[in-house]
Parts: sequence; structure tokens; C-alpha cells
Amino acid sequence: MKIIPIVPVPIEEVEMALFEERRKIYPRSQKGWFGSWRWVLVFFTQILFYGTAWLNWNGRQAVLFDLVTRKFYIFGLVLWPQDFIYLAVLLVISALSLFLFTAIAGRVFCGYACPQTVYTEIFMWIEKKIEGERNARIKLDASPMSIHKFSLKSAKHAAWLVLSLWTGFTFVGYFTPIHHLAEEVLSFSLGPWEVFWLLFYGFATYGNAGFMREQVCKYMCPYARFQSAMFDKDTLIVTYDTERGDPRGSRNKKVDFKAQGLGACVDCEICVQVCPTGIDIRNGLQYECIACGACIDACDQVMDKMDYERGLIRYTTEHALDSKLDSKAMWRRVFRLRTLIYGGILSLIILAAALSLAYHVPLKVDVIRDRGMPKITETGAIENVYRLQIMNTQEVAHTYQISVKGINGAMIVNDTEIDVKSASAVTFPVRVRIPAGAAETGSSRIRFVVSDLKSPEVSVTEKAVFLVPK
Ligand code: SF4
Ligand code: SF4
Repeated sequence: MKIIPIVPVPIEEVEMALFEERRKIYPRSQKGWFGSWRWVLVFFTQILFYGTAWLNWNGRQAVLFDLVTRKFYIFGLVLWPQDFIYLAVLLVISALSLFLFTAIAGRVFCGYACPQTVYTEIFMWIEKKIEGERNARIKLDASPMSIHKFSLKSAKHAAWLVLSLWTGFTFVGYFTPIHHLAEEVLSFSLGPWEVFWLLFYGFATYGNAGFMREQVCKYMCPYARFQSAMFDKDTLIVTYDTERGDPRGSRNKKVDFKAQGLGACVDCEICVQVCPTGIDIRNGLQYECIACGACIDACDQVMDKMDYERGLIRYTTEHALDSKLDSKAMWRRVFRLRTLIYGGILSLIILAAALSLAYHVPLKVDVIRDRGMPKITETGAIENVYRLQIMNTQEVAHTYQISVKGINGAMIVNDTEIDVKSASAVTFPVRVRIPAGAAETGSSRIRFVVSDLKSPEVSVTEKAVFLVPK
């Protein structure tokens, strides 16, 4: 038998990093139509967030999520734990809105209204005001530490910290009355949980908008991962028109670039420099793209300077690009059956929730039967005892009248009128008596009717069981 010697194959060692090294991004500031819309949304969301906490309504904070008393105040509305359904409806509306907007315009929420984008935009504005434009920032970071560099960096971080702590303070101010919270801050008497949440939310803002920035969108946000499932060929996405733009290359404005075999892209890379996630949209759709439109504004301005048609980078759909659809045909496909179904369901849920809130009875009643055995009086009448809880969800005191129905001759033996203070609940025992022989032995259904004495149309009926012993 012939023995074949085994020749060792040299193994080539390849070193691979497990994590991609972070490349710091220095986005160039960019003005334009989409940039203006981003700032409109920054102002709108931040005026809403920082301002609403200070509004008053009926002598209390207009929007307050009071976890201690388990009541949510939203202007004239007081929601109790029993109104949890509205929170569930709000979550369903948010999820459906996200589906709808993603199906229509991809990650448009990320680019314009996501808190991560909004705070990053504000933090970048502060950075630009203190450290200067993109090139000045790159130069400053590359330079050795000096008094000038130290003072600029300190000023930037101080401004970021003030804004972050103010954000944390405002956040906590939605759970603890903000005027009271401000007094506690000024007198250094904050409770441990208030300190924890103020610092937690503040430092989360500082870290996410100051340092993590695009890393949050790339690696932490789950929406970036599953949004592609909601995309199809008729979803609006930010796209570079390869057919029009390639081959790329610099050229003189006056020459006929088509005669030179060039496309419309002058390869200036400004679209890459303005991108907050540091990608080159000319390489095609990438999951890092948050659809902010900064590259569209940048490229449109380059096109204007070159006297070329705008829209080399634009919001369009894959279908429109492949089939060369005009904008009318593209928009017809954007509002396709899928988006109409999402929109229809969303409108129905919003309408149902609005009607339910409009006709919301500001009174809740809970009835629990006392566990004790029914009592038989000297005359043979039978008495059952119940615990009634009446919740007045309005911010004015009310007097309620209680009656009982369901068994002939049934009556309430103790007080039938009860005062309940504004936005309060009262629990009290109620003795119900029926004449001898009015109901068969065993259990019978009765109904408690609780009505507002002044406005009887505000009324709630609650079922209960009446026991008749053998
Ligand atoms: S901004 Fe426009 S012209 Fe400049 S590189 Fe980007 S796509 Fe090309
Ligand atoms: S590629 Fe354009 S739209 Fe996408 S994140 Fe970058 S700048 Fe914004």
C-alpha cells in the first residue's frame, strides 16, 4: 500500500475586530426646505414638552400623571386606573400611525420627530455655535489640548448639561407638580426618586444627543431593524438617481457634461458631509438612513449652482424610479390599498376614542357584596350588605343618590344620598332589604343605580347579587 505523506497547509491568520470602530461624524450644517421643516418640528415638540408642564387648569397642573393617587390629569380630563383602556387605545393609535407613516414615507418619523433626532439637532446647534462649523470642529479635535480648546469644550459641555438637566427636571415635572418640584430643587429637598429620575433622564439626554448620536439609530433603536418589513416598492425613500447622476465627476459648470460622458453628480460629497449618520446615499438605500432630507437640501443647492435640474437626490419610490413614473402616478401608488386600510382603521379608532371620551360619564361605581350571611329581621325581611365605591371623576363636588332595583319592594335602609368631593372616591356600606317572600331562595340579580342629584342624566347602573337563605 502506498502511503501518501500529509503536507500541512499553511494557515493564514486574519485578525478581525468584533466591533466596528466608531468614526466620529462631523455633520456640516445645511439649510433648506427639509431642514426648515426639521426645525419647525424641533420648535413644535420642544415648546410642547417644556411648556405644557407649566400650564395650569382649574387651579392645578394641566397635565400631570399623579402616580401616588393613581390619577392622570389631562386638561379637563381626569383618568383613573379604571380608564386604563384609553392608554391601551393610545398605544394602538401610536403603533398604527407608525405603520401608516412608515408605509407612506419610510423613516420620516426618525428624521423629523423622534426625540433622538430632535435633541441631536439641538445639541449639534449648540456645538456649532460654540466650536464652529464642521472644518473648525475637525481642526479643534485634532489639535492638542490648549486653554482655547479647553474653554470651548467646557462651554459646550456646560451648555449641554444645563439643557439635559432642564429636560430631566421637566420630565419629572409631569409626575410631581412642577412648581412644587422647583421649590424642592431650590431648597435642596428633593426626594430620592425625584433625584434618581431627574439625573437618569438628564444624563440619558446628555449621553444620547451629545455622544451616542447616530449610534442610537444604528445599534439601539429596534425600529431601524423592523421598519424594512413595512416598506415596499411604493414607499417614499430618500434616493440618489443613479441613472441621472452616474458617472460622477468634477467638471466645469460651462461644459456640456453629457458630451463628456458624465452624469449630473459633480462628486462634491456635500451630501455625505451633511449626513448625520455619516452614510453616502449614492451607495443605495441603507438602514442607517433616517430620511432626514439633509442630503436632498445639500444636493439641490449644488444643482442650483450648476444650473442643473433639482432632485438628483429626492424622496421617491423604487417603483417610480424603475418604471419612470411621473410624480402624479407615483403619488397615486403611494396612497395604495395598504395605506388606505391603515388610514381607515386608524381613523375609526380615533373617532371611537373621541366619541367615547366625549360621552364619558364622569362617575364610576364599584359594588362588592359583604361576605357575611344575609340577616333576617323580626318581620321576616331579608337584608344583604354591600360595599359601594363611588368615584367622582369631575373636578367639582357632587351629591349622588343611590337606589336599588330588580326585586319588588327592595329598598336601601341607610342613607341614600352621599357627597363626594372633586376627583375623589368614597367607599361606604349599603344595607339592602327586601320584604319576606319577595325573592326565591338562592341568588337573585339586583341593580344599584347611582345618579347625580343635580344632573340625573349622569347615572351609572351596577349589577349585584342578592342572597336569600333557605
Ligand atoms: S451633493 Fe449631489 S452632486 Fe454632490 S456628491 Fe452628492 S449627489 Fe453628487
Ligand atoms: S442619507 Fe440623507 S436622508 Fe439619509 S440620513 Fe443621511 S442625510 Fe439624512
